[in-house]
Amino acid sequence: MRSAPLLFTLILLATSLSGCLGGEPDEDEPCDEQQYWHQVSEASPYPGLGCEGGPIRTLAVTFFVYRDNDNASYISNETSLLAGLELINSVFNPHGINFALGEIINVNRAFPDVEDEQEGETGTVGNSSGGAGGDFGDGVPVSALGTEFEQHYNFSNVNIILITDGWGAYSMYPWHDRTYYATFVRASTFETSYIPSHELGHFTGLYHTHQYHEYTDSDSDLERASSWTDDWVVPNEQCYLTGDFVCGTPYDCYQWCEEDIGCDASDLYQGEKPGQEESEYPDCTLEQHSPSLENLMSRYGDRSVLTDDQGARARYFVQYMLDTERMGNQLVAVGDA
Ligand SMILES: [Zn+2]
Repeated sequence: MRSAPLLFTLILLATSLSGCLGGEPDEDEPCDEQQYWHQVSEASPYPGLGCEGGPIRTLAVTFFVYRDNDNASYISNETSLLAGLELINSVFNPHGINFALGEIINVNRAFPDVEDEQEGETGTVGNSSGGAGGDFGDGVPVSALGTEFEQHYNFSNVNIILITDGWGAYSMYPWHDRTYYATFVRASTFETSYIPSHELGHFTGLYHTHQYHEYTDSDSDLERASSWTDDWVVPNEQCYLTGDFVCGTPYDCYQWCEEDIGCDASDLYQGEKPGQEESEYPDCTLEQHSPSLENLMSRYGDRSVLTDDQGARARYFVQYMLDTERMGNQLVAVGDA
């Protein structure tokens, strides 16, 4: 009987090691770092698909707080920023990503007024996302932020600039080369709106759910996918190759359904965009068009949900930003939450 305890120990050891060695996620246990953050394959093109959680990465945020348009007072403060971070983390924590207050840069100058708009620059950025659930409004250009922004921009952190009402929120995809990867969100609704989470979705590489809506019959958008990194695996599943490059979000043509698929879906966004003209097209059937109306990366009203594969894609690009130096930028994780 003396060998029994040894055998028992070996069985225990084998069980505890299988999570690391097997490669496949264990259904009952959280994944390890390799599975959750690194491992990709043709069947699972983003890390941690199928994982029940895994180790959390924390990114520090540098907040830029300006004075209001009249230079009277600062437009945000630590209490408000912490409350907003909590809302953001309620969206991203379930997918292993945590945002923490790194530093607040109070910039002692009036934020540019929206009447001083400098059109042209933001068009190249692409992710305008205004208030009231829409993605509209002029984005303030980085060049209007003054030398204080350049001096204090943190190349290891997530940089968020609080903006005054009237300007539209926007952020920047991780794969386009630029010096300043900045995220712009309104100070007045930072605590209560999911738009900051939406913009950080773009920052972590998420497209709108209606991305490439016009290509309904394309076999693959792989060439577009290849623009973000050369060594992205070619997934087996078609839905990882088209649209927003995730499978968990159904096809969404938002306000372009008439042109795209010949039916009217304006009832879905009537709430945010009232006063739609009567359409000459028939209403879309559920089979033609049933987008997620709650998805964070949609433009519908009540958006707060990230699917598991959107979360996995966000992890992929967070890891990319941790691993890759991009014009001086390289995120540094600050430890587990
Ligand atoms: Zn957007």
